[in-house]
Amino acid sequence: MQDFANKVTVITGAASGIGAALARKAAGYGMKLVLADVDMAGLEETARSLGDAQYFPMRVDVSSAEDVERLADTTLTRFGAIDLLCNNAGIVPGGRHRAVWEYEVQDWLWAFNVNVLGVVNGLRSFVPRMLATARPAHILNTASVSGFISGAGSAVYGASKHAVVRVTEALQASMLECGAPIGVSMLCPGLVNTRIFETERVRPDHLRSDAVEMEEPETLKSIAAGGADPDEVAQQAFDGIMANRFYIFTSDSFDAAIAQRTEWILSRANPAFDDFTAMSQKDVKPA
Ligand code: NAD
Repeated sequence: MQDFANKVTVITGAASGIGAALARKAAGYGMKLVLADVDMAGLEETARSLGDAQYFPMRVDVSSAEDVERLADTTLTRFGAIDLLCNNAGIVPGGRHRAVWEYEVQDWLWAFNVNVLGVVNGLRSFVPRMLATARPAHILNTASVSGFISGAGSAVYGASKHAVVRVTEALQASMLECGAPIGVSMLCPGLVNTRIFETERVRPDHLRSDAVEMEEPETLKSIAAGGADPDEVAQQAFDGIMANRFYIFTSDSFDAAIAQRTEWILSRANPAFDDFTAMSQKDVKPA
């Protein structure tokens, strides 16, 4: 996709962070926007940064197939097309470092409902409508470098992002198989300065977990502050879409860990994973 002016984009998780930055970038390119999130106040804030772009904000829980169907229908009713779908909403169950068996069932359900089913719901509702128009289009799924590395830390989030990688690679393969004029890109950010570590704020009540021992808010903010600027990440995403690039990595800090894991797999060696937190620290900007 080369020309964005007057095209229609749908962005989930647009109330904050990378989603809000994708919205600002899309508005800058002259796109019409449908902005989806569970946080309506955040969507209003994003909307205030869009200049005179045409936009429509919607309360959508991406883990609800009904909500995402409504999003697809409303997009077509409002703007008559779907040119760029950004399946971006995502969460990280909070709390201090836990071993894989120490997470609660609620953590697994919440992460897989939003991070994996959220993307799948987007594909199930939008792709048939996009195929029906036979109009050139593009899909951007936000995965993470966490979808390519492993280790003890952040196991729930990592497992959900490994699943997003598999889903998105299957999407690319299916598009090639059916010869559809729909490009696919997968955004794989390293650490980005967003509210991702504060996502407990949007955990639904029925999946609350009493076991979550949160880090201090200031600690979380200072970890995020070392990450990349979301506006730069959004520019990398749009550059990747324009180049029809599938893998869009925003940092090479994790390349050695990805290569090491691949090497263990190919040589059938037992893995000896690095401390995950130390690995993530490699992505922190020098102060
Ligand atoms: P963020 O918390 O700033 O923004 C995420 C947005 O998703 C929020 O506005 C939140 O309200 C929304 N959201 C959460 N649950 C939702 C649901 N059920 N339905 C609809 N919207 C929902 O975080 P971010 O960093 O901008 O995250 C965006 C994407 O980037 C996520 O998929 C995340 O996993 C991925 N990512 C982030 C980083 C990072 O370091 N920030 C790194 C790699 C990947």
